[in-house]
Amino acid sequence: MSFDHVLANLNSSQHAAVSSFADTLAILAGPGSGKTHTLTSRTAWLLHQGLQPWNIIVATFTVKAAREMKERIGKLIGNGLESKLVLGTFHSISRRYLARYGHLIDIKKDFGIADSADSLAIIKRIIKRHNLNIDPGAARSRISSRKAKGDHYVEAKPPAKSVDIQEFETCWTEYEEALKRSNLLDYDDLLLRCVQLLRTHPSCVSNVEAVLIDEFQDTNIVQFDLMRLFAAQRKRITIVGDPDQSIYGFRSAETKNFKRLLRQYPETVTIALEENYRSSGAILLTALGVIEQDTSRIAKSLMPTHTVGTKPVLRKLGNAHKEAEWLVSEIQRCLGLTGTLLDGNDFAILLRSAALSRLIESALGKAGIAYRMVGGHRFYDRVEVKIILDYLRVINQPDNNDALARIINVPSRRIGETTVKAMLEEAEQSSTTLWSLLLDTAQGNRTMKTKLGKEADRNIGIFIDLVLKARKKIASCPDQKYSTVELIDYVVSKSRFEDFLEKKYSEDHESRWANIQELRNQAHDFEAQLSEEDEEALPEIDGLEQDGSSNPLSKFLANIALASEVKKDNDGPEVPQVTISTIHAAKGLEWPIVFIPAAYQGSIPHSRAEDSDEERRLLYVAMTRAKALLYISLPLKNSQGEETTLSPFLSPLSLSPLLDKQGPKIGSSLVQTFAQILGRPLPSVESIAISSSNLKCSEDSLFSLEGGEGFANDESRWAKWDGQHNFTMGQRAPKRQRT
Ligand code: ATP
Ligand code: MG
Repeated sequence: MSFDHVLANLNSSQHAAVSSFADTLAILAGPGSGKTHTLTSRTAWLLHQGLQPWNIIVATFTVKAAREMKERIGKLIGNGLESKLVLGTFHSISRRYLARYGHLIDIKKDFGIADSADSLAIIKRIIKRHNLNIDPGAARSRISSRKAKGDHYVEAKPPAKSVDIQEFETCWTEYEEALKRSNLLDYDDLLLRCVQLLRTHPSCVSNVEAVLIDEFQDTNIVQFDLMRLFAAQRKRITIVGDPDQSIYGFRSAETKNFKRLLRQYPETVTIALEENYRSSGAILLTALGVIEQDTSRIAKSLMPTHTVGTKPVLRKLGNAHKEAEWLVSEIQRCLGLTGTLLDGNDFAILLRSAALSRLIESALGKAGIAYRMVGGHRFYDRVEVKIILDYLRVINQPDNNDALARIINVPSRRIGETTVKAMLEEAEQSSTTLWSLLLDTAQGNRTMKTKLGKEADRNIGIFIDLVLKARKKIASCPDQKYSTVELIDYVVSKSRFEDFLEKKYSEDHESRWANIQELRNQAHDFEAQLSEEDEEALPEIDGLEQDGSSNPLSKFLANIALASEVKKDNDGPEVPQVTISTIHAAKGLEWPIVFIPAAYQGSIPHSRAEDSDEERRLLYVAMTRAKALLYISLPLKNSQGEETTLSPFLSPLSLSPLLDKQGPKIGSSLVQTFAQILGRPLPSVESIAISSSNLKCSEDSLFSLEGGEGFANDESRWAKWDGQHNFTMGQRAPKRQRT
């Protein structure tokens, strides 16, 4: 197969990077310069060079990015090898290694993953039990940031000087013990334990021939160590990144990793990419105007390849309600006046914090515009979905105290909340798990101090039976090929879940039940396509004992725990959806039209943010997601009714001609520029007539149809707008020749 077509679409620096024979290659460049594109093409090139896909590790920052990259590589090489790459987030790659080789460092099979809510619940209990004077959220972040720096609680224990430190140490130590008892690893553990595994058993990665990393600026020290360990055998490393887009400092990402790389791999070849292929000239210029305020950064050259296009819009609205309504009306106007050129998928609303989404969601909902939330409230966090997932987690791993405590009385088994807490406490006091305590008591091997009523006692017996039978079902299935869907059906029917929903949520039980059906569909899809996150894709290594692969249920659960994106809701066939995302989760992505609302001091920079440069970079990342049109807005008053001031990162630009205070005129010339920037065909006049026929907006906002005459994609036709909602199509009169 020829590879020329791949190389032909690259500029000369990208070409040099893709086909470089350097052992260590660093591509440092600005947003939209094709870093990810280059990394993708380089992976394809390595495959083309004859490297086996299972010997190549590609680490991306989000699950979505991993999926997109896999698709793109597939398109470039077209032989299906991409599905065999070890490609995913650092967390998912680490999980795969731990699932296969975790037994070598005493990790129990089918370990569960503690998500942030689990971690918090555990910490809250510890704080309560020991009557500690710490805030649970703060304790969790502190533990996580210590672990993200590579500290391990046992090794790192400093002599406790103050009460503060002592209390924190108690909390941390007990937290680790609780995780261990429940056979859970938290997100930080996935990385830390993988480092431990590869340090002690480097042969696990003896096959690896190349390691490629996207978004390197946001790696932390543990991820840097992982990269080194992955590449320990053959130092083939390619990293791409942009220090100007480093936005995870608050999670211990280390911009120092660039320096570390150059120090530890002095032969590193560095390549710069200087052309921006994403954004219009006007958007890029404005974004550069923001980042260049940071005088301590190392300047990089970044030139637009597109036309200047439409100026970014800066609008102030009366309050956050009005802002949300305006934003939605702009989406409708853009959709209505551009025909088939755009659909809902082309819009993103990027927020500094997920909490800002409520008003925007409700305005979109009112307007009947479908949307998806990224990095916010997830499908899997819905109460009913979480309950069934907790059942599955308990079936997979009954020692998971928290999951068990959450469902033991759901549906009601006549066990009060205080009793559940007391049982949990009793279990932890006697260094056992809630499950063992219940099971032992039920089997008459031990008596529980916490007393239950007769009915509760009997109900617990039924519950234990449910879990044991489900576990038996897993174990007795030949090759463990039982289906998660069947398991969900089993749990739902045995616990009479539908009745429970009907009783408890009389108003919306139907939609909740539909969510359970959606979960079932997802389990079905997951099994059908056999997970990409599968450790079975790792090659077998001679002389290294593998753990039998983890069961399909734990793979399904891990896949959910590591998903950063909201799964599809049960809203029927896929319709184009506007994306609402936090800026953090939007990294590396791009959309034709981007909105950045709430651009005021206190929101960005956030009032609680410590690093103002990082906040500026965050705004820069958000702005550089836009291809054709960027809207920035702010309400004059915040939700507390206080007057706002424009973000200081934007105020120097607000008086400049870079920004448009009115809003774009959407007419034929704008549509043509968009089509050009997006590389899409021009919409037909008819499609504009149809899409705008439902548009309820004033004559004023349709002024842009230039006197009532639309444009035609072939010069021979025209459309006339009657000032109401009607267009008439016709032949365009022949242009008069200018003399
Ligand atoms: P970010 O820093 O935001 O992650 P990036 O540097 O990774 O950006 P990409 O996402 O790889 O940039 O590329 C941005 C856009 O430019 C993509 O749509 C990509 O397909 C396109 N692109 C990249 N290189 C070229 C090229 N040589 N010719 C045409 N389009 C290109
Ligand atoms: Mg990228």
